[in-house]
Amino acid sequence: MPTPTGHVLLSPSSSHRWLICTPSAMLESSQPSTYSPYAEEGTEAHALAELKLSYMLEKISVKEYETRFEQFRLTSKFYNLEFNDFVNDYVNEVMTIVKEDYKGLNVNVYLEEYVKFEDIVPNGAGTSDVVIVGKDFIHIIDLKFGKGVPVSAIGNPQLRLYALGAIKTHVRECACTEAKMTIIQPRLHDISTDFVQIDALNDWAINYVKPRAELAIAGKGELVAGDHCKFCKMRGICKALADKQLSVAQAEFDDVVVENHMIEPAQMSPEVIARILDIAPKFIDWFKDVQSYATNAAINHGVQIPHYKIVEGRSTRIITDVNAVAETLRTAGFPESDYLKPTELLGITTLEKNIGKKLFNNLCEQYIVKPAGKLTLVPESDKREAIDVKAKILDGDEFYEVVETDDQ
Ligand code: SF4
Repeated sequence: MPTPTGHVLLSPSSSHRWLICTPSAMLESSQPSTYSPYAEEGTEAHALAELKLSYMLEKISVKEYETRFEQFRLTSKFYNLEFNDFVNDYVNEVMTIVKEDYKGLNVNVYLEEYVKFEDIVPNGAGTSDVVIVGKDFIHIIDLKFGKGVPVSAIGNPQLRLYALGAIKTHVRECACTEAKMTIIQPRLHDISTDFVQIDALNDWAINYVKPRAELAIAGKGELVAGDHCKFCKMRGICKALADKQLSVAQAEFDDVVVENHMIEPAQMSPEVIARILDIAPKFIDWFKDVQSYATNAAINHGVQIPHYKIVEGRSTRIITDVNAVAETLRTAGFPESDYLKPTELLGITTLEKNIGKKLFNNLCEQYIVKPAGKLTLVPESDKREAIDVKAKILDGDEFYEVVETDDQ
């Protein structure tokens, strides 16, 4: 049954999930909402980007821009020069598209436009960061401020839904034949773009999205686990995801056990170790999700998890009045070096945040070096170049074995 909050149930940003696993939206709505500083940071980045683009596109005066920018700078929880640099990177990319890609063309640019696609998705609506409307095309641009997971525009349902809504909004000014969709992720220095013909977009909307949205709003359909589970609120308790993880684990580990039995010596072969290393990451994140769900359920809702109990964690002592302690030790005759930390330079990441990445690097580049990193074992697919460890050992450079033991 649809919930009273049906208007946000099928959000465009989670459409990549509810289009595949249709009951997920309704199930997620039964879970408590969680605070995410990343989401809040993203909201602030969007607000600053809109302000800057409004000025660059001459929608507001320089005076209004300066007043609002100063207000933002003073009140924002996340503003610092690095944050500002990344927002500028996004704004510059958008302006390059507007001024260079569409040079000589008559286009209108709309910011933070509320678009609706209710004929396809029940109560379907969302806010598109930038909508560029030409004579016969629509271009949707979306800012993703996160730096954890790259998000591609290729086949992205959120942007496709925005395109559908924008086409309806601008039907009088644009005889649209093609939609273009771009995602800009400044903190990953990533830009991707997709194109879709309007006929194909409408076909996708009517024959794929509409029937699945009807199932999703009713909480019906099949639970389907996959990569889209990553940010689902159900992932710590979802049985379908658990079944998938456990059956994959069983199949994978069965193979490893068989492989291992075929080996004579008492030690696992490098091949078997490689198999275990390959398999492990698939389960570590899921294990943490289940652990976090269980901890929250036990502590905040009194759920009894068999064989587990709640205890107080280890804590460290804290000083309640640092000034009083410093004064006491000073009066007792101890030198400052015994109880005060010396003033020291902040770390590079914090300096870049406070001073701005570009400015800091312009000023101090000659004093920064990047020493060789600690040797690490990674899968072959990793983009970094492999190191010829055997040659280094033969050259007598260093002995690379890492021995970890707890019986010292
Ligand atoms: S965790 Fe995955 S399978 Fe379970 S409800 Fe969420 S999206 Fe569906």
